[in-house]
Amino acid sequence: MTSAPNPYSFPNVITAIIIATVFLTAIIAARYLALSGLAYWLLWGRPNHLGLSGVRLNRDAPSWRLMRHEIRASLVSSPIYAFPAAIVLVLWQNGGSAIYSDVHRHGWVYLAFSAILYLVLQDTYYYWLHRAIHGRLMFRWCHAGHHRSRQPTPFASFSFDAAEAALTAWFMPALAMLIPINVYALLALLMMMTVTAILNHSGWELIPPSWLRGPFGALMIGASHHSLHHTRFQCNYGLYFRVWDRLMGTDHSPAPPVVAPSAEQVPRSAPSRS
Ligand SMILES: [Zn+2]
Ligand SMILES: [Zn+2]
Repeated sequence: MTSAPNPYSFPNVITAIIIATVFLTAIIAARYLALSGLAYWLLWGRPNHLGLSGVRLNRDAPSWRLMRHEIRASLVSSPIYAFPAAIVLVLWQNGGSAIYSDVHRHGWVYLAFSAILYLVLQDTYYYWLHRAIHGRLMFRWCHAGHHRSRQPTPFASFSFDAAEAALTAWFMPALAMLIPINVYALLALLMMMTVTAILNHSGWELIPPSWLRGPFGALMIGASHHSLHHTRFQCNYGLYFRVWDRLMGTDHSPAPPVVAPSAEQVPRSAPSRS
């Protein structure tokens, strides 16, 4: 009598992770291309820009050369983000993560709290990592690729050097192993991350000026705030919130929106700290 194959054997788990990595790489890349492409088409590709009442931040229209670099780097980043996510996906399928699907298991209050907690933790991690990779030791091999986009386009939203992608890709999956999170809240957070990254790199400020001057603009990072990071380098390191930038004296107010200098002024190495 032969025994049934063990689904949790080491070769089976490795195979499942490889398959999940391929599957997630395709989803991440397709989502990136679809949403960034849509944003580019709406904001830069249409002659009348859909009549959107935004402020154009980039002086120059996006060049194909820059967008090719951004897309290439983003497609390289896709499997790097997919791999740790695939590990968590396989563990979740086998009951080995902190992800849950029944909202009532922890209630709606916890769901809202956990979503905000994830954003705050991710913002905190990114702020300090971002400051570190702007240092002379790390900038050239870890972050220069992202800063080739002095006037970023929507395609810069996922355009990272492989090293930077590796340093950031593990964080959300690690949280999902430790802090209970509803699977739909997690998917909503991932979609929100993608959309805000695209908007913040779009070259257009679409948030109404009255919002930017109010509590929303004082707390949240938008396109004009992050565009300032791409032009001045040594300020505005945050991901979602301006809190860490304000606490550490690195926040530069983006109002009024600053028009970026021309693409020819892109530095080849880490700019010195002022
Ligand atoms: Zn940077
Ligand atoms: Zn950026």
